[in-house]
Amino acid sequence: DRFISATANQDEARQDRAIRPIQLSDYIGQSTVREQMELFVSAARNRHEALDHTLIFGPPGLGKTTLAHIIANEMGVNLRQTSGPVLERPGDLAALLTNLEANDVLFVDEIHRLSPVVEEVLYPAMEDYQIDIMIGEGPAARSIKLDLEPFTLVGATTRAGSLTSPLRDRFGIVQRLEFYRVEDLSTIVRRSAGILDVVLDAAGAGEIARRSRGTPRIANRLLRRVRDYAEVKFDGRITAEIARQALDLLDVDNVGFDMLDRKLLFAIIEKFAGGPVGLDNLAAAIGEERGTIEDVLEPYLIQEGYMMRTPRGRVATKRAFLHLGLQADFDLTG
Ligand code: ADP
Repeated sequence: DRFISATANQDEARQDRAIRPIQLSDYIGQSTVREQMELFVSAARNRHEALDHTLIFGPPGLGKTTLAHIIANEMGVNLRQTSGPVLERPGDLAALLTNLEANDVLFVDEIHRLSPVVEEVLYPAMEDYQIDIMIGEGPAARSIKLDLEPFTLVGATTRAGSLTSPLRDRFGIVQRLEFYRVEDLSTIVRRSAGILDVVLDAAGAGEIARRSRGTPRIANRLLRRVRDYAEVKFDGRITAEIARQALDLLDVDNVGFDMLDRKLLFAIIEKFAGGPVGLDNLAAAIGEERGTIEDVLEPYLIQEGYMMRTPRGRVATKRAFLHLGLQADFDLTG
C-alpha cells in the first residue's frame, strides 16, 4: 500500500472510529461548509422535515464520509451506507430505499459510479419520494408506484464533473471540500493525539500537519506512524525533531510528498521535458492508472503549484524543478 495514500484500509477504518468526529462542532476546518450545514440542518430539524439532498465532493480523505455521518447524527436519524459500484441492479437500490424510515439519510459513496439503470430509479425517489418497480416479464409486465418515506440522499464523489446533469440538478445542497490548512490539520492531529493518549507538543503537531498533503486521513495516519517511532526509539513523546526523523525514515519529504508524487513530477520533467504531456502518456510512464493521477495525485500538486493542467496536457512548474533539485534549461512558467 502507498504509505500516504488517501484511501483507508480496513485496519485503519477500525482505528478511525475512535477519532472520527461525530458532531459538527468537532468537524475542524472547512468553516463555510460547517456554518452552512449547521444552518440547513437546524432549519430542517425544526420543521421536522428531511434535509435537502446533499452532494459532497472533494479528493479522498478530506471528510466526506465523516460529514455524512455527522449530518445523520445532528438530524437525529439513521444512516444507511452504500456506494455507486455496489448497487448493480435497480432492485438493490429499491430495497434500500423502501427500508428507510422518515427523514433517514441514505449515503451513497462514489455516486459518480452508479450505473444508468440504477440512476433512473433515483430520479423519482429524490424528486417525489416515489419509485417505479417493474413486476412480471414480457407483455404481462407492468410497473407499480411505491411511496417512500421522505429521506435525504447524501452523495459523495471525488469528481463532480463526472455526474450526469439530471442527477446533479436534483441536489439542493452542494458542498465542496477543500484541502485543509496546516493550522487546521495541526488541530486535528492534536485532537486525535488526545483521544489516543499520545503526548504531542505544538511543534510536533505542526511538523506532522505540514507533511499531510492537506488531508486529515493522512495526518491521522502519519500521527500513528510517528507514535510507533517515538515509542520504540524514545519515550513515546512526540516533538518536532522526533516527527521529522520518523517522517524522513518513512520517505515523506518536507512538503509531504512520497515516492509516487516525486515519480510523477520526475516523469514530467525528465521523460517529457517538463511537459505538456497528456494524461494517458503520463499514466503509462509511471505505471499508474489515469484515475489515480486525476483523483489522488495531481489535485494537491496542482493546488500547491507544482504542476499545471493546460489544454495541451500536464506541465511541471518551476517550483517542481526547485523542489526536486533540478535545473531547468529552458523558459518555465510558474
Ligand atoms: P472521505 O470520505 O472524504 O474519503 P473520511 O470522511 O473518511 O474521508 O475522512 C477520513 C478521516 O479523516 C476521518 O475518519 C476522520 O478521522 C478524519 N477527518 C476528516 N475530516 C475531518 C475534520 N473536518 N475534522 C477532524 N477530522 C476529520
